Amino acid sequence: MNAPVTIVGAGLGGLTLANVLHVNGIESIVYEAERSADARAQGGMLDIHDYNGQPALEAAGLMTEFRAAVLPGREAYRGLATDGTLLFDKADDGTGGRPEVQRGELRRILLDALPTGTVRWGHKLDGVRTLGGGRHELSFAGRGRVTTSLLVGADGAWSRVRSLLTAATPVYAGTSFIETFLYDVEKRHPELARLAGPGTTIVSDFAGRQINVHREAGGTLHVYAELTEPLEFFDGFDLARIAREFDGWAPELLAFITASDTPPLHRPHYALPAEGLRWDHMTGVTLIGDAAHLAPPDGEGANLAMQDAAELGTALATRDGDALLSYEETLFPRSAEHAEAATYKPTREDMIEFFAM
Ligand SMILES: Cc1cc2nc3c(=O)[nH]c(=O)nc-3n(C[C@H](O)[C@H](O)[C@H](O)COP(=O)(O)OP(=O)(O)OC[C@H]3O[C@@H](n4cnc5c(N)ncnc54)[C@H](O)[C@@H]3O)c2cc1C
Repeated sequence: MNAPVTIVGAGLGGLTLANVLHVNGIESIVYEAERSADARAQGGMLDIHDYNGQPALEAAGLMTEFRAAVLPGREAYRGLATDGTLLFDKADDGTGGRPEVQRGELRRILLDALPTGTVRWGHKLDGVRTLGGGRHELSFAGRGRVTTSLLVGADGAWSRVRSLLTAATPVYAGTSFIETFLYDVEKRHPELARLAGPGTTIVSDFAGRQINVHREAGGTLHVYAELTEPLEFFDGFDLARIAREFDGWAPELLAFITASDTPPLHRPHYALPAEGLRWDHMTGVTLIGDAAHLAPPDGEGANLAMQDAAELGTALATRDGDALLSYEETLFPRSAEHAEAATYKPTREDMIEFFAM
């Protein structure tokens, strides 16, 4: 391969792809809408799995850097019943296959490993068209146009590149997170620090209401309260209204929501078709990550984006002519499997068995 690969989106998927191509001697350019690497906070902790995210980092030659970024002790899981009693409490003995890192730290590792200038910040794709012969023209708001013979859409949930391949767009999946943060918890919220345990804490009624608490670096608790409600329910919401939805739960659990040190954020969940997205193969363009298979959060999305990236990067480095086709043949069944798995709601027994193993 001679011409650089054009990647749109510098999320974990796009950056992993750029790195896998780089270690295989293939040049790429990553066009990213955000103005700089620090333009936006990068979200919370991610558990990176030994069956998809970690092999992708291996393919990118970044396992040493990844291991150095792992937050010790965070792969612990605690389950609480809605009355606050303990269901399970699994310690992190360092042998699990899902170590936790801060998303921003992982992104920094991926960015630092790329040749200077690979990522073109401040390039928001606002138009894309097929020129024929496998070539495409991209236009960037206020930043001109480029043409490419190999385009990868790594531009997330609301991908513009996707429109070349399919008319599918994400729809609301019926669930939303309310996101809160509690800082310096040992000092400022000692009762919540005690309840939360050292890693991830899950409180669920197994009927559509759940609170997930992640203990991040620096004494921060990062909380997602999940509700199964239509989008309109969240119009003009406040914390008191959200807390009322958890009526009947132990009052100390509700403080994970009401004691927030930050204004609560509504994070609705969107998904591409439940049977998994497919498209007719088109020369010169494909998708990875959320652009290809957005699903409600189930702890796999970032890991799958990195797996897609590693498989596509390896195919481009090793196959002549049919790299995109061979990548898509593996991608489509995996996306269908993930779309189904992401809507699965565990029972109390399933959760105890899964996390306490
Ligand atoms: C609340 C929440 C919690 C989650 N927790 C987890 C978890 O614990 N574990 C896990 O594995 N997954 C998790 N996920 C899913 C995960 O965040 C996504 O699946 C993952 O980020 C997808 O990576 P990506 O690279 O495909 O897309 P993204 O991370 O969305 O990156 C896309 C990039 O493209 C850029 N972009 C978008 N449009 C354009 C454009 N027009 N022009 C140029 N650039 C553009 C964006 O700015 C962005 O940088 C969670 C998701 C949510 C919403």
